[in-house]
Formats: sequence, C-alpha cells, structure tokens
Amino acid sequence: MFVDKQKSSNIIDLNRSLQQKETEIELLQKTFTEIGSELDIEKVFQIVSERARELINAETLLIPLLDSNCETYTYRGGAGKNAEEIVGESLPLDFGVCGWVWKHKKPWWQGMMNELSGDEKNRWEQEAGNMILVPLQGKRHFLGGIAGLNKRGGGSFGKKDLSLLQLFASIVSVAIENAMAVKSMEDSHALNEDYRYKLENLNKQLIESSKELEYLSLYDSVTALPNRSLFYDRLSRDIVEARNDGSTIGVLLIDIDSFKDINDTLGHDLGDSLLNKIARRFDDGININETLARLGGDEFTVILPGHDQAQVLRRAEKLIDSLKPAFILEKNSIVVSASIGVAVYPDHGENIGNLLSHADFAMYEAKSSSLKICVYNPDSDHLAQGHLAMVADVRTAMKEKQFELHYQPKVSAVSGKVVSAEALGRWCCTERGNVPPNIFINVLEQNGLIDEYTYWAIETALAQAKDWQQRYGEMRIAVNLSPQTLMHPGFKEKFDQIVKTENDGKLLTFEITENLFLSEFDRLAEVLEHICALGVELSIDDYGTGYSSLSRLRRLPVSELKIDQTFIKEMVDNKDDQVLVHSTIELAHNLGLNVVAEGVENEAALALLRKLGCDTIQGFLISQPLPVEKFNAFIEAQS
Ligand code: C2E
Ligand code: MG
Ligand code: MG
Repeated sequence: MFVDKQKSSNIIDLNRSLQQKETEIELLQKTFTEIGSELDIEKVFQIVSERARELINAETLLIPLLDSNCETYTYRGGAGKNAEEIVGESLPLDFGVCGWVWKHKKPWWQGMMNELSGDEKNRWEQEAGNMILVPLQGKRHFLGGIAGLNKRGGGSFGKKDLSLLQLFASIVSVAIENAMAVKSMEDSHALNEDYRYKLENLNKQLIESSKELEYLSLYDSVTALPNRSLFYDRLSRDIVEARNDGSTIGVLLIDIDSFKDINDTLGHDLGDSLLNKIARRFDDGININETLARLGGDEFTVILPGHDQAQVLRRAEKLIDSLKPAFILEKNSIVVSASIGVAVYPDHGENIGNLLSHADFAMYEAKSSSLKICVYNPDSDHLAQGHLAMVADVRTAMKEKQFELHYQPKVSAVSGKVVSAEALGRWCCTERGNVPPNIFINVLEQNGLIDEYTYWAIETALAQAKDWQQRYGEMRIAVNLSPQTLMHPGFKEKFDQIVKTENDGKLLTFEITENLFLSEFDRLAEVLEHICALGVELSIDDYGTGYSSLSRLRRLPVSELKIDQTFIKEMVDNKDDQVLVHSTIELAHNLGLNVVAEGVENEAALALLRKLGCDTIQGFLISQPLPVEKFNAFIEAQS
C-alpha cells in the first residue's frame, strides 16, 4: 500500500514535471517564434526579458550588455520589479556579479559559491542566492548576459533554472546579435545619411562660391555683361565653329562718343549707371547665340555669328538707333551717340587679334569721319599691307621646313640638375632674319597653319627626347600648345598617331596658357584627360597673367605650374610680386603641383625662389634656349 502510494505520488510528480517541461518548452518555442522574425532591438530585449523572467520565475529580469567601448556595460532590457529604473543604467565592467561573469565567461548562480575561494565567497555571498546571470555569447563576440534577481515566492535559483536560462540564452543570443547588427547598420546608415547631407551642403556652398568666382572673373560688374575675357572665349569658340562650317562672323566695336565728357560732368557713379542703361538698350536686340560684351571704359563689342557684311551693317544701324531716345538720369536728360567699327570673319581677319584690331581701326575711321559706322578696309590700313607679305613668308617657311626648335633647360631648384627642357620655336627667315616666335606663332594661328606647325613641333620634340633618352636617360620635353590646336576636333586622332606608346607620352609635357577656352571647359577637360592617359604631363604656362583661378585649374589633370616671368623679374624688388609668387607656390604645392619659375635672370631671384620652395628653375641665368648640339654640350658639361 505504501509502495502504491509512493508510486502514485511519483507518477503525480512525474506528471507535474512533464507538464512543467511542456510549459517550458512551449514558452521557449513561443519566445523563438516571437523573436525569430523580430529585428527591432528594443522589441527583442522586451520579449527576451519577459519570457526569461517567466521561465525562471524571477522577480526582476535584466539584460546587461557590453558597451562598444568594452569598459562599461549597460542594462539594455528588463522586466519585473524596478526594471524600468534600472534599464539604461551603465556600470564599469569590473563592477558586481556582471563583472565576475565577463571575467570568467561562466554563469553565476548559487552553485558557484562552492567554486569560490574564501575571499571571493565572502564578497559575493550576499548576492549569490538571489541572483542568476548567464552569459550571452554571440557567434562573433561576447555580448553580455541575462540576469534574474530574486526568485518569486522566495528561495534561490537552482540548477534547473541555470540549465533553462543557459538553453534560453544560447538560442536568443543569435536573435539579439542579429538585431544588434541591424541596429548598428541602421545607425551607421543614419550617420552616412547625416554625412551625406553635410557633404551635399558643403558641396552646394562650394559650387555657389565657385560660381560666384566664375561670375566675377567672366562678367563686368558695372553692366553685368560678359567682360573681355569671356568675349575672347566666345569669339574663339565661334571662330572654331565658323572655320568648321565655312560661315562668317560679324564683329562690332562700339565706342560711345564723348563719354569722357559725360563722365566728367555727371561724376563716375552716374557715369556707371549710364553705361548700365546703355548696356540694357544694346542687350535688347541681342540673340541667344550672339555676344554683347563690355571691353572696358566706354567700349562695347558684339559678336554676330553667321552674319555677312550686309547683315552686320543692318544690326549696327539698329544699335545706333537704340541710343536715340534720351536717357534720364536723376532728372538729367542725356543724349548719347556711338561710333561702330565692323570686321567680318574671315575676310578681315581669321583670329581674335586681327578681327579686333581691324574693327578698332574701322571704329577710328568712323569717329574721324562723319559716318557712324565703318567697315574695315584693308586699302586704308597700311599696316595690313606689310602683314600680308608676312603671311606669305610664314606660309613658305612652313612649306620649306624653315622652322627649328631650340631647347631651354629646366633645372631642379635644389640640385641644379637638368630635369627637363622646353622646346621653343625658332625661325630664321632669309629676308627678315630671326623672327620672334610670338610673331610667327601669331601669324600661323591667324592663317590656319598652327595645327600643322604644332604637330611638326610635337614630332620633332618627341624624336629629340628619344635621342636624349638613349644618351642621358629619360627627360621630358615641353612643347607649347596653342589653344586652337587643342580644341581642334581632329586633335585627339592626330595625337594618337604621333604618340604610339605610353613610353612616348612619358617623354612629353604640354605647356598650355591658362586663358584657354573658359566656356569650353568640359570639352577641353576631356581632351586633356585623353592626352594624360597617354602619359603626357600638362603644365600651365605664364601663370598669373590670365583670369583663371587655381581652383578652376585643379579640375584639369595638370601637374605643373609655370609662374610668368613678369612676376619673377620684379620679385626681388617688388613686395607684391613676392607675395604673389610665395602664395602661388604654397597653393600649387597644396594641390600637388610642381612649380616652375620662368625668366630667372639673376642669383638674387634664384636664392629667393629657393627660399620660397620653388621646385624648378628656368631662365637665362641657367641657360638661353639652345640648338640641339649646344644643349648636348650643356648637359655633358654639367655631368
Ligand atoms: P613661353 O612658353 O613662356 O616661353 C618662355 C619664353 O621666355 C621664351 O621666349 C624664352 O626664350 C624666354 N625666356 C626664358 N628665360 C628667360 C629669361 O631669363 N629672361 C627673358 N627675358 N626671357 C626668357 P621665346 O622663345 O621668345 O618664346 C616666346 C613665346 O612664344 C613662348 O613663351 C611661347 O608662348 C611662344 N612659343 C614659342 N615656341 C612656341 C611653339 O613652338 N608653339 C607655340 N604654340 N608657342 C610657342
Ligand atoms: Mg612655354
Ligand atoms: Mg611662359
């Protein structure tokens, strides 16, 4: 009977324990399905805390997690008594039971007491019975733990609680780790967004300020019309187009009559506002593909693409007519008249310089006669007569290969060694003697011969560089490139034919002046990228004489900057030039550019340039441009 009683009590116990197991399993399963699909970290903490609390029947359940600094831990989740107050609190890692668990990577529960040494036992005894803490070990790193405080209904957490909580922890740790990874991804995404937002804003500011700079460098502040620089740029572009499609361009030079008197009478402020009003009248009749610019003072100019002489004259008359109604300025009624000189591309000139000077000539003819408008007439321009003979001679020189290249060494400011050479065109004409390159290059440019000349110069320089490579090792030769050639549609193709390998490219530098086609910047950049991809280096020549800013130039693949000789020459005695040279060197270095000083003629300049950190020196102090044999002798003497 007793045995039966015992048996049935055992069976009841077994049933109870089975039931409890079932409940536990149910609870575990429920938890896993709940958190399995949950990626919101706060919700995961909430579910884990509540279910774990139920599982081990704890008064309070807390989830302490290691902070990313690995020096503190924070209670990230919790459920039950006082949990709300504790969650969010951070403590140092070596503090309390948590610290013990981090250190030993073992669970904490009452049974641990037997494993402790005497000192530790005394230290932890108070907390031992009413606390259980199992580690949360993620797949990638140690996360923290799950802690139960005070068994509900009294008593201590036992071995069974420990196994259950360990089982629970081992499974939820994956969910916690995933949710934490998602959270940190979200945080860094938010951070990225934040950075992106800030960057976008900075970029916007940069674009705005560079637009402002660009505006200031291209537009006249009094009339808001394009200035001389933009006028040159537009006319160069229009000439390239007209040359390609065989069309004509009208160029008008307008000078306001007696403006000086008006200015003197009204004062400069009213004078400026009159100029502005005149600009508005002129501008009314200007179409989108045409350019009205203020060259300075009382001089305006108009570019009329696709206009022949008769059309240009009609437009000039309209401009004169637009001035007829009196201008009212502070109750003064002012009547203004103007004189216009006309030049038409290509009849009166094939380049900007020619067209402008001929329009100017015509304008003075108009002023000195009773006519308001005059078209350029070569018969009355005696200078032009001589010019035609010059053009004929330059053509012959090109045909008969009379041009030569001389080479001027560029030396290291530090070692004095020759690092490269600049090829400079020379023409010794039988009738005229030595003609300076500035003159014949100009004639070549005006008469459509510059491309042929430049290809010859590149080929000649490249052959020379190969010869020097054999004799003295690799050394680049710099060739001066006319902007027209660079912008010529066939340039890329022709250049590819000349430069066959990257090794060829590595022997060349192209020097280009900074006043390149400003409005064709993108097209230019594309051509320059192509050249650079072939190993060629780009150098900005005569820096300081033009209108471009370094910030603009840095958008091109440039590697060298040559400070114009006018600054170098004056530098020793002129503080302003010294400051300009100094700041240019600094800025260029900040942009990673090599700096060359041109026109170094004396030791004082050299010493100063060295002090300012200039990299390369070129000038008569080192050597004049030399014919090949003399250049060879120079190098050999040096080594
Ligand atoms: P650049 O490219 O700025 O060349 C430097 C000029 O300064 C050269 O004048 C050179 O002889 C001169 N120079 C060098 N060191 C000194 C110095 O210490 N003192 C003085 N006073 N002058 C010095 P160059 O040879 O008369 O050439 C003048 C310009 O003609 C060149 O200026 C370049 O823009 C152009 N040029 C020359 N050859 C060519 C060419 O083959 N193609 C093109 N497109 N232009 C060329
Ligand atoms: Mg040069
Ligand atoms: Mg130069």
